[in-house]
Amino acid sequence: MVRARSFYICVIIVTIMGCATVPSTGRQQLALVPTETLLEVSEQNYQQILNQSTICQDQQKIAVVDKVGERVINAARRFMWQHGMEEDLDHFVWGFTLIEDPNTVNAGSLPDGRVIIYTGIFQAAMDENGLAVVLAHEIAHGIAQHGRERMSQLLIAQLGGLSLAEALVRKPVETQQAWLQAYGLGVTYGLLLPYSRAQEKEADTIGLTIMAKAGYDPRGAVAFWQRMMQIPGPQIPPYASTHPTDQDRINAIQKALPEALQAYEQTRFYG
Ligand SMILES: [Zn+2]
Repeated sequence: MVRARSFYICVIIVTIMGCATVPSTGRQQLALVPTETLLEVSEQNYQQILNQSTICQDQQKIAVVDKVGERVINAARRFMWQHGMEEDLDHFVWGFTLIEDPNTVNAGSLPDGRVIIYTGIFQAAMDENGLAVVLAHEIAHGIAQHGRERMSQLLIAQLGGLSLAEALVRKPVETQQAWLQAYGLGVTYGLLLPYSRAQEKEADTIGLTIMAKAGYDPRGAVAFWQRMMQIPGPQIPPYASTHPTDQDRINAIQKALPEALQAYEQTRFYG
């Protein structure tokens, strides 16, 4: 009975205030978490990640992340402006944090547009163009608010339908774990597993367009994900079977490439 009641309360909440739209794909997504509360939780968890990590001091690596990052951010802003959604970025502060950890082939994005990158990602990124694939993919997750969507789903699925503010008080440890899971940070499977199939596909296709608009060759995304496939990692657990397989992902990227290549050609000719 109680369970049925909370289910109906959820349905009502979702109906009244719980939806947002993903840029370019137009998919409706769950958005039960107020931005302000989400930013507060994220800041706390971000500071905790920093406290437990070593910030990279390699000036060459920092310079390349900053250079590629600035171009990708500008392209993401233009992308959102073209979709009439630039106001969705009002709370974005952007920025990149490079963490020294050569064994972690991972990156993740925060709800305010900041991206955390572990130096292990250079094994797969290889060069500027490969790094653009990663940064554009992560920024695509950010502007599509995939973390907020995951957090909303996890509040229902794992935290008993509590609001984020309530969950923080009543289940702080579980809430932090849910946040790390929602944003793909602090999980073993990292870049490969936190999001759903639909979200990954969106981040790949939006990411392709953004990197192309930033002047990077989107064909590099195929090579990047092929290199990711070669890097030995943990076995994908059965619960992650909804995640796209590597080959599915590469096929979907190849399908989205012609449109991204047009954007790339236009950027090359018209700037
Ligand atoms: Zn992703």
